[in-house]
Amino acid sequence: MSRNTELFERACQTIPGGVNSPVRAFRSVGGTPRFIKRAQGPYVWDAEDTQYIDYVGSWGPAILGHAHPEVIRAVQEAAIDGLSFGAPTEAEIEIAEAIVARLPSIEKVRLVSSGTEATMSAIRLARGFTGRSKIIKFEGCYHGHADSLLVKAGSGMLTFGNPTSAGVPPEFIKHTLVLDFNRLEAVEEAFKQHGSDIACIIVEPIAGNMNLVKPQPGFLEGLRSLCTQYGALLIFDEVMTGFRAGPQGVQGLTGIAPDLTTLAKVIGGGMPVGAFGGRADIMEHIAPLGNVYQAGTLSGNPVAVAAGLVTLKLLAEPGFYDRLAEQNRKLTEGLAQRAAAAGVAMSTDYVGGMFGLYFSESVPTSFAEVSACNVERFNKFFHGMLIRGVHFAPSAFEAGFISGAHDDAVIAATLEAAEEVFAKL
Ligand SMILES: *Cc1c(COP(=O)(O)O)cnc(C)c1O
Repeated sequence: MSRNTELFERACQTIPGGVNSPVRAFRSVGGTPRFIKRAQGPYVWDAEDTQYIDYVGSWGPAILGHAHPEVIRAVQEAAIDGLSFGAPTEAEIEIAEAIVARLPSIEKVRLVSSGTEATMSAIRLARGFTGRSKIIKFEGCYHGHADSLLVKAGSGMLTFGNPTSAGVPPEFIKHTLVLDFNRLEAVEEAFKQHGSDIACIIVEPIAGNMNLVKPQPGFLEGLRSLCTQYGALLIFDEVMTGFRAGPQGVQGLTGIAPDLTTLAKVIGGGMPVGAFGGRADIMEHIAPLGNVYQAGTLSGNPVAVAAGLVTLKLLAEPGFYDRLAEQNRKLTEGLAQRAAAAGVAMSTDYVGGMFGLYFSESVPTSFAEVSACNVERFNKFFHGMLIRGVHFAPSAFEAGFISGAHDDAVIAATLEAAEEVFAKL
């Protein structure tokens, strides 16, 4: 028995499904998950010391490459001074200042420990601020696993094909309106019917949890103006896209200012950090200033904040995002060319350091189009690449991630493996 299989069987004895987050279990692609022992730059090594080129990047955080020496050093130095104090620190001010300085829509920001906490808190704040109950989300967008947001969500929910999780009472989601991403008319209609009850729209401004789906021209602009017109708040969930799609996230690419933004993944540099922030007059409704309660024992954890701060510092180096996008272009165009040469219907798209691979003739613009992609073919591609030492996300509904460490040699090795796999599809 291989070491990965041995570990997986052992894990399944004490951990439900052998994993601490469902997509890791390889359920949709089949086979045995690789147990990772260490990671460096663009590579991860599994329990059998097999090396893989990694396009998961811990699902987004590893934008500098794994175990960047400066990030590791910052974590080591912070740890020596103590792991957690439950009291304010100067480093928390510095990371808040760094976020506020880079994202003009954020005037004040609060730290939490995950993306789920960030979106859950932002929704509560939007409801508390507006005094309204209803929220709008879009099918295929994933905003973490808080009850009211776990309806027709993306990522693992898509992988397992459940529209809503068991354990979420209907009363908890009766205020959640779920609409189609990229269909503005449906949003207009919802506001006509429920305008004075809608607290907020929450949206992944580039959807990265149903593969990668970009907003159509006018969609985000339309959300912005409807929210303004009806006094609802616009929340950009940039947990994935923040400091990943570009130096200022999707709001920087589009120039559209949300009222609130949620962040996580990259801002923790691989450690558990999330954040939500936005207009000061809204953020001042949070305790201790206001009556919307929100708290966290480990919020602003000094070791996690140290990793996030140095990550943000390194991302600010001139040219980082240009290089990242250029490598991403080489990867995605290279894959598309090789697929076409082999007669495999595959299309690709990318933005900044995230990309989508679709086994379909054209790039999808809606949840329905993503759902129509050839999942069986993706699964064959996935396993073909894995045995050739390339680790993509184990689901056709996840975006891919590259890092500053994915140099030309790494991309060339990926394309070489892909050429062999496409030939067999
Ligand atoms: C990953 C993700 C979340 C959830 O973040 P966790 O840290 O896993 O709780 C929320 N929203 C989006 C857009 C995400 O990609």
